[in-house]
Amino acid sequence: MRKLVSTLTGLEYPFERLEEFAENGEALEVVLPGVERARPRPGLRLWERFAEFLPFKQMEPRASLGEGGTPLVEAGAQLAAFSGLERLLLKNETQNPTWSFKDRGSLACVFMAQELGEPTLATISTGNMGHSIAAYAARADLKALVFVPEFAPSEKLLAMTIHGAAVIRVRAPDYALMKRAVLGLAKEFNLRIVSGNGPIRVEGYKLTAFELYEQTRGELPDYVAVPTSACGHIRGLFKGFRELLAAGLIRHLPRMIVVQAANNSPIVSAIKQGVKHVIPFTNFHTVAEAITSGNPMGGDEIIAKARAHGWLAEDATEAEILEAQRQFAQAGWFVEPATATTLCAVRKLRQAGRIAAEQSVLLMLTGAGLKDLGALQHQPFNVIESNLDTLRRDLERAHPRSLWR
Ligand SMILES: *Cc1c(COP(=O)(O)O)cnc(C)c1O
Repeated sequence: MRKLVSTLTGLEYPFERLEEFAENGEALEVVLPGVERARPRPGLRLWERFAEFLPFKQMEPRASLGEGGTPLVEAGAQLAAFSGLERLLLKNETQNPTWSFKDRGSLACVFMAQELGEPTLATISTGNMGHSIAAYAARADLKALVFVPEFAPSEKLLAMTIHGAAVIRVRAPDYALMKRAVLGLAKEFNLRIVSGNGPIRVEGYKLTAFELYEQTRGELPDYVAVPTSACGHIRGLFKGFRELLAAGLIRHLPRMIVVQAANNSPIVSAIKQGVKHVIPFTNFHTVAEAITSGNPMGGDEIIAKARAHGWLAEDATEAEILEAQRQFAQAGWFVEPATATTLCAVRKLRQAGRIAAEQSVLLMLTGAGLKDLGALQHQPFNVIESNLDTLRRDLERAHPRSLWR
């Protein structure tokens, strides 16, 4: 029987549990007995091919907005040179329906709501998750309820509201207090309020690992670098790898690289300092807006996994993040600042000799650059102002005769 098990001490709960964490605050994960006998099978969609690994009893194809199937590509010579890594790969999750990997988790949330007959998808978010939940609720004809803090930028709210979500902006002294207040009402209103690190979303993120298994024909990279906030993505990916190993489909687990902004690095700092618990950050600011969990619930699991499996951890300063965003863009990939953190992090790990030049490293491109317009004020804006009188001269300057052929 499928169930939820807490990730550090093994407390067990029913699969349908409304709360996303154990009473002691530990993250929960789905355990499906017999997963080591699960096998991929023919099917049109990723979740149909890997259905034996998934806990859902019904998976309605109409719930999908076409998420997944994202490109796995070589980063190319420029980024290889910048990072010092010869075998640098990118998994372009910005090509999902709402331009971030969050869509894979939202699909799982819809499967869950449909199976349990729940009419509403609810979440607390400042951006990408709220946007994704709003789109998937619209697709599945469910209600979307998104709680946002006061500081949520209005361009992110626009995306939620145009999909028809009810957006409740909550004024509170800080985001953590607001979250606690909202979650405190969940039971009374019989609401499944999903966070970025719930066990159901993790089942959706796990599919990315299966997709990588297919795309690499089982030759997974040595390292997978993930910008980390609530921790759902990184643990979903790793859960997928663990299940592939348990099923005998791969022989080694890739090692994960946890990446955070230096200004807000509750997990990376703990791993670097060799302590077991999340080091909370408050009142910080970072341009990497999508990775701002300062005290992620269930984060101790990631610290324990890093220790047990030899993961790496690195941070990125504000200047490094902006530089990496430019590097990505000049190589053809326009990503948001949170995503750019991985490039400078792996470069630092390479320089420190923690990764060898010939090891293969995959960077997860988690979110698209146009999702955070505000961050672009820090980047160059090189537009040549011209008019009909100066056009010839301006063109000559932009495209000098020396370049003509
Ligand atoms: C949500 C998000 C992350 C962090 O993922 P978690 O599952 O919260 O750790 C990283 N990058 C982008 C673009 C995101 O939207």
